Amino acid sequence: MIQGEKLFRRLTGRATEQLPGSSGLQSRTDGCMQLLLDQQGRVIDASGLQRHGLGRDAGDATPRLLLDYLVSGSTLALEGGPADWVGHCLDLDFQGPGLNVLHTRGWVQPQADCWLLQLLDIGDLLRDSQQAGSREQCAQLALSIGEQLRQCSAARLPEVMHEALCRVAQQWRVPCVALAVRSGTPLGWRLYSAYHGFDAPALWTTGQTLGEVLDGVDAKRPRSINADVERTRNPLLNSLFGNADGWLVPYCDQQGQSVWLLLGFYPATQHPSLMSESDWLLVCAAMAGPLQDRLREQQHEQQKERMQALQELLGTGWWEWLQPSRQLQLAPQLSASLLPQLEPSALTREAWLALFHPVDRDELSSGFNALLEHGKTLMLCARLHQPQNTQPTRWYRIQGQVLGTGASRRTVGYMLDISDIKNQQLQAAAAHARLDNLIASSPAVIYVQRYDEGALLPAFFSDSLQPLLGWSLDDCAGAALIDRIHPDDREQYFERTRQLLREGSTRSRFRLRDRAGDYHWLLDEAKLLRDDLGLPVEAVGLWLDITETTEAAERVKHSEERYRILVEDSPAMICRYLPDLTLTFGNRPLANYLECAPELLPGINLGDWLSAEQRELFERRIASLSPEFPVSTAEISLQLPGREHAWWVWSDRGVFDAQGQLLEVQAVGRDNTEVRRSQQQLTHGAKMATLGEMATGLAHEINQPLNVMRMAIVNVLKRLSNGDVQIDYLKEKLTRIDSQIQRAARVVDHMRVFGRRSEIEQQVFNPVQALEGTLALLGEGLRCKGVEIHAEGLACSVQVRGHSDQLEQVLINLLVNARDALLSKRETDRDFQPLITLSAETDGNCVRLWVQDNGDGIDPRLLERIFEPFFTTKPIGIGTGLGLSVSYGIIDNMGGRLSVSNTGPGARFCVELPVVEE
Ligand code: ADP
Repeated sequence: MIQGEKLFRRLTGRATEQLPGSSGLQSRTDGCMQLLLDQQGRVIDASGLQRHGLGRDAGDATPRLLLDYLVSGSTLALEGGPADWVGHCLDLDFQGPGLNVLHTRGWVQPQADCWLLQLLDIGDLLRDSQQAGSREQCAQLALSIGEQLRQCSAARLPEVMHEALCRVAQQWRVPCVALAVRSGTPLGWRLYSAYHGFDAPALWTTGQTLGEVLDGVDAKRPRSINADVERTRNPLLNSLFGNADGWLVPYCDQQGQSVWLLLGFYPATQHPSLMSESDWLLVCAAMAGPLQDRLREQQHEQQKERMQALQELLGTGWWEWLQPSRQLQLAPQLSASLLPQLEPSALTREAWLALFHPVDRDELSSGFNALLEHGKTLMLCARLHQPQNTQPTRWYRIQGQVLGTGASRRTVGYMLDISDIKNQQLQAAAAHARLDNLIASSPAVIYVQRYDEGALLPAFFSDSLQPLLGWSLDDCAGAALIDRIHPDDREQYFERTRQLLREGSTRSRFRLRDRAGDYHWLLDEAKLLRDDLGLPVEAVGLWLDITETTEAAERVKHSEERYRILVEDSPAMICRYLPDLTLTFGNRPLANYLECAPELLPGINLGDWLSAEQRELFERRIASLSPEFPVSTAEISLQLPGREHAWWVWSDRGVFDAQGQLLEVQAVGRDNTEVRRSQQQLTHGAKMATLGEMATGLAHEINQPLNVMRMAIVNVLKRLSNGDVQIDYLKEKLTRIDSQIQRAARVVDHMRVFGRRSEIEQQVFNPVQALEGTLALLGEGLRCKGVEIHAEGLACSVQVRGHSDQLEQVLINLLVNARDALLSKRETDRDFQPLITLSAETDGNCVRLWVQDNGDGIDPRLLERIFEPFFTTKPIGIGTGLGLSVSYGIIDNMGGRLSVSNTGPGARFCVELPVVEE
């Protein structure tokens, strides 16, 4: 009852007018009902209830009001019987068919022995009252939500929105609520926030994208989603609402931007009494309006941040001309980059112009004036003035325009740092110019041939065509180009075109006639360019004039041929061999000498023809070759099977790689065996001459011991015949005889060695022994002739390589020559004391043997000639003129040197020989 009274108090004026008392009820016949009740509250008769489908149960004769008619909740307020209810206003809810409830208000009046219960249908009044309450709640909720959404921080906005959805859901018992916003193509609609009750299915999730599903929906009024209808009308929308009933509330702001409030599992049409369409629009607007504002605000902030970042990245910024102060205001980041040392502030026109290079300043000034005075749009590029700055030039593009008119007229613009582009442009232009220059000055022509139904027609030639060949593009059109190709090369040119079309690229060489009629060798390289469909469009290629190179190559080929013939026909033996002495090539003379075919030479090892000693020498000589001293010449001795020794004069040239490593040796040889043989004979002859020369001294040398022995024997015999022989005396005589025999034997032995022809192989020996041997041979004879001999420093013990008998022959020659010079001097000067001094010394590397006399020396004019063969100053029959020349050859052969000088009293000969390790 108390609830009923409250309800009435809240009713509108119209409603109260209609319910003043029972008299008014009579007039409302449409909603009026009467029930006759007995004392116990049982319904005896009812009228008007049937209109609402509430009939008395036929099975029960007197149904009870409380138990059989009213909804259970409604009976709670009634106690006792009808007598107790008199004077009270009764709010009774009748149970209608199905879930329908009939709300009534009435009072009890006594009637005879029963009670008349008059009832009035107040369903619509109740609904109005509920709606008003709900509307008020709705307005309050909307206000509170709107405020919260407006006031919260940007970071909390999603959270607050979620709370708002939660409140809406709880307030109107909506299982699923979500707010969809337009997130821009291509994503379409997106759920900004979604909420579902703890016992409701998660129909939607926050952030879910919806595509274009809400695009076609009328955004002017709410839309009820009826699963049965939508299934065929809009299946997408139906599936968005989980194939269930729902409610879709739009919001549209002034910019036409719309937001949708989605209510899921909510058959709104069943609750029209609580929330009208406008209520829902209000709730939706309370959420969507602030959200739109906040999102727009956020977008604006982000846009601003992006713009700032962009300006900083691009080195760009706005500027504005402030007319009242006549100053130019720069964007902070622009100001910081242009005037890093100054606080951002406005600049005067002059100060701003002074920032730019004098070259561009006038143009900028005039453009700026035109903008300010005539409103002419400004657009130009200018570089900054950077005195004493080594950094690349900084370029700016400056644009300006006038906005608005009259009092709201503003002059604004921006400056964009285009240094990168500008400097690249300049570099590209320079590179382009260089390339143009290069092409113009190089023997290259760039060309383009247009593809036309399988044919390639000349479409472009670089300017270098004219200076190179004298033709222009027109001269090469059509068949004219083919005419200018050398007849022998035409087939090649056609094949080049076929290959280009077939494989997409080609490289060929052909000759093209120039305007003067001369042919040029061209290296042609071309590529076929295709369009997106793979069809040929044009061929781009390059002609390189390789006439000189081709001719040079021809010349080299010819010259190689000539050299090959030269090598083949050369009488000298020419070969190439590897550092391990394996032949890689040998010419015909070499093959002839070795009695085999030239092709059999490669693979043969040169070392096979050398004795171990010769080979060692040969290899040592090859190892001494270096890039600085690549050539070495020597006389080598070869042991060819079945032949006597051969002597070759052999010249080697080493070929080295970049690291100085010996790759191979090229050698030229000449057979020197004949010369060598005659030299040997000459030496032998000279030796014989020396031998004859010595005959006298030798006779004396042998006579001397013979005389001593004869005297000893005579004396012994005399003693024997006297019978006066003592053993000691006999021993002494025999010992003397024995020593004289040994002396004679030594001389004879020496003579034997001397008479032999020198061995081919050289030996190692002590040169001082040769000196001593010479003294033993000649010493006594010289002394007999009154020539004194001094020997000094003969104790040194070193080794040299050669033939000891040959060295003795040399020393004998020198002693005999000295003797001759001394004796001839004594012939003119009787008091003259002839003296020969022999000495030896060594410094470790070489040993020097000196033979010095105190004669008249050698006439300086003859010094150069005395080593010549057959040069002599001695009378015919005495001098041969061979001694010194043969001696020179022998010492040279031992790797030494024979020299002479007039130092001291007479001539001084020096034999210098290299020392070898023992
Ligand atoms: P030959 O002794 O048969 O003349 P050599 O070749 O031995 O031939 O000597 C050539 C010449 O050198 C001699 O004829 C002589 O004039 C000169 N000669 C050699 N040795 C001496 C010397 N010790 N003093 C002066 N002249 C010399």
